[in-house]
Amino acid sequence: MLCDLHTHTNFSDGVLTPIQLIDKSSAFGLSTIAITDHDSTLAFTEAHQYGLKNNIDVISGVELSASVGDYEAHILGYFINPNDKYLLQTLDDFRHARKTRAFKIVEKLNNLGAKINIDDLLPNENETKSVGAIGRAHIARKLVASGFVKNFSDAFRDYIGNDGPAFVPKPHFTIHETVELIANAGGVSFLAHPGRNIEEITLHTIVKSGIDGIEVYHPSHKKYVERFYHSLAKEKNMLISGGSDFHGGGNHEEENLGKFGVSIPQLNKIKMLAETRKK
Ligand code: AMP
Ligand code: MN
Ligand code: MN
Ligand code: MN
Repeated sequence: MLCDLHTHTNFSDGVLTPIQLIDKSSAFGLSTIAITDHDSTLAFTEAHQYGLKNNIDVISGVELSASVGDYEAHILGYFINPNDKYLLQTLDDFRHARKTRAFKIVEKLNNLGAKINIDDLLPNENETKSVGAIGRAHIARKLVASGFVKNFSDAFRDYIGNDGPAFVPKPHFTIHETVELIANAGGVSFLAHPGRNIEEITLHTIVKSGIDGIEVYHPSHKKYVERFYHSLAKEKNMLISGGSDFHGGGNHEEENLGKFGVSIPQLNKIKMLAETRKK
């Protein structure tokens, strides 16, 4: 039985509500998921409560972007206290910065001829009672819906990918600050989906940052990539994680919910380390 430790809801750039995500996880026979929204822990409380009634164990998580020199690493935090004041404030700041950035990206796209409107884009603010974690995935979906691009990946390839004409960066903490932020909120940190294009020196810096583990199992990882990070984690005495990076909605990546993850014993190792961080 796999525990899927990487999923998104509509509190960030996923399509499903927390309740819909739990229902889908039940239907797929899962027992445990971690919700790892970008820059938000706000889906957790509702998901956790609903999970208790539906035999799904929901782990509080988050996905943060962190800088390592010029490289943007994604860092997953697990078993964080979703109500940690400093964490909540920091994530709220990140989400406000995302909103400002979304205005800039839409302006660039409008100048390039796209007919999309920022007001149609701002996600679920009523639901979250807070500023939503708007990202490029929201914008990509609108570009497809408006007919400006054929599909989701073309939106990134031609416009909003890191080298695209409408790309706008967002502010990040450094890798050290990010690992510390997660640890101070009682959580454990993992390098998300490193892939094999990452430079050795960057990987070295991340491994040395005090990070606890590596996401080995991810839909973007070929078998040899899995093997590489599995042995690296063993060699460096780091923990292993995995998940589908599920965003829902069909027009994102393939739907891999429950096809990637870790075993219960692997999850228990993560949990045991997190226990040592609780104040
Ligand atoms: P953001 O956090 O706004 O910079 O957007 C990053 C998110 O966009 C990722 O979490 C993915 O959901 C999505 N994404 C980024 N690059 C691509 C890509 N090339 N193809 C599909 N989705 C992507
Ligand atoms: Mn995403
Ligand atoms: Mn990511
Ligand atoms: Mn993700």
